[in-house]
Amino acid sequence: MNVQQARIESERCLQCFDAPCTAACPTHIDVTKFIGMIRSGNILGAAEVVKTSNALANTCGSVCPQEIFCQSVCTRAQQDSPIQIRELHRFATQYERERGYSIPKVFPKKVGKVAVIGAGPSGLGCAYELAKFGYDVYVYDSGRPGGVPRNSIPSFRLADDELDLDTKFLSQFFALKRQTIDAKSFKNIVQSHGATFVAIGLGLDRSLGIPGENLKGVVPVLTFLEKAKAKPRSMKIGKKVVIVGGGNVSLDAAATAKRLGAESVILIYRRSEKEMRVWKSELEEARAQGVEIRFLTNPVKVVGKSRVTGIKCRNTRLSKKKDKTGRPIPVEVQGSDFVLEANAVIVAIGQKIKADWLGGIKRTSAGYIKVDDDFQTSLPGVFAGGDVIAGEGTVVQSVAHGKHAAQAIHEFLSAK
Ligand SMILES: Cc1cc2nc3c(=O)[nH]c(=O)nc-3n(C[C@H](O)[C@H](O)[C@H](O)COP(=O)(O)OP(=O)(O)OC[C@H]3O[C@@H](n4cnc5c(N)ncnc54)[C@H](O)[C@@H]3O)c2cc1C
Ligand code: SF4
Repeated sequence: MNVQQARIESERCLQCFDAPCTAACPTHIDVTKFIGMIRSGNILGAAEVVKTSNALANTCGSVCPQEIFCQSVCTRAQQDSPIQIRELHRFATQYERERGYSIPKVFPKKVGKVAVIGAGPSGLGCAYELAKFGYDVYVYDSGRPGGVPRNSIPSFRLADDELDLDTKFLSQFFALKRQTIDAKSFKNIVQSHGATFVAIGLGLDRSLGIPGENLKGVVPVLTFLEKAKAKPRSMKIGKKVVIVGGGNVSLDAAATAKRLGAESVILIYRRSEKEMRVWKSELEEARAQGVEIRFLTNPVKVVGKSRVTGIKCRNTRLSKKKDKTGRPIPVEVQGSDFVLEANAVIVAIGQKIKADWLGGIKRTSAGYIKVDDDFQTSLPGVFAGGDVIAGEGTVVQSVAHGKHAAQAIHEFLSAK
């Protein structure tokens, strides 16, 4: 979007009172305000409004699924089409980027020490807000700040420099400690800080639990995406790739495999298209790239001697019974087995927590960290947010968790 296009789009905004878009944005960016500023030509002011509410302003400008948040409730859609809110959000932050990122305002005097474990969207969102409250913030991460957006979201969807803008800006607000946390260091951290925020995401891929899964060429999706992002040139993928899964991450894997030169990419999913938990835009994009999707298909065995040569599948039908997610349970159709040839099988059926050091901190029935309404865990003074409490979510939801947890941490420390 250029200045003129942004102005024209901003003029379509109805400037609703109690705007539903602001309520639908998990970080509650004041959408009508920043769009009004673009309309009046104060674009740097608009960027400031976005950035004040959302610590990962540039990143969200690129990857926020606006079709499920702000844009999905836009009042203008009742007249013709919704305002392109994310595009305007992106326009404002890009405009600021070209003119130099603004220096943050002076914050109040430091009032205590808080630790944040994990420098992904949730940890960064929390650290930023805590620093605004005046705390000394220490962020621990085994790698560079950015979490999944840094390591796994493909570069063709999120350029490294977009994320770098956010992380460089945010790095002014905390001390980063490169360290992999274990049981001993966790205990020390909790004891030496007034409060601790755990935002370690979901680092472990779930496995299929079928025979042949240990054959060479069967790759967990995070491993695949991380390698493809870090070393795309040395990455070799076979001609025929089968991906197991039905979420956005599986679509990212499919698009990445195509870009790495796979001739055939088949995604198998055990339910129908209706039950897929994907953003429609990503699904359409994958199809446009030639990714084939086979619905109502379950993998039963990976075939091969030492290396994968195929995957044995079975058709399914949907039962009337529903599972915990509210979706119909797929039932295998006996006698419907067939084999898909494959040089590589990518397993993308979800992630779980990768940490054996959380001790007695209570978990939900799904295995995530259990928190109360204030994001506090069962261990007093230890808070948690992001994917680690809610399962696979989005960048903006994770930033919002961090932001709201920071408020709760501030109240917790103020009451001491
Ligand atoms: C492939 C993929 C594509 C996605 N695409 C999108 C998208 O387009 N749009 C969108 O909104 N969302 C997307 N998501 C979801 C989004 O990235 C996540 O919801 C979000 O990153 C979760 O943030 P988090 O801070 O909770 O955890 P993470 O991003 O996982 O960050 C956790 C951090 O904790 C650190 N950590 C973990 N364990 C330790 C330890 N023991 N010691 C020290 N540090 C540790 C990790 O190194 C990491 O930096 C995608 C997710 C994936 C996997
Ligand atoms: S962060 Fe996402 S939901 Fe919020 S205004 Fe921007 S595009 Fe919309």
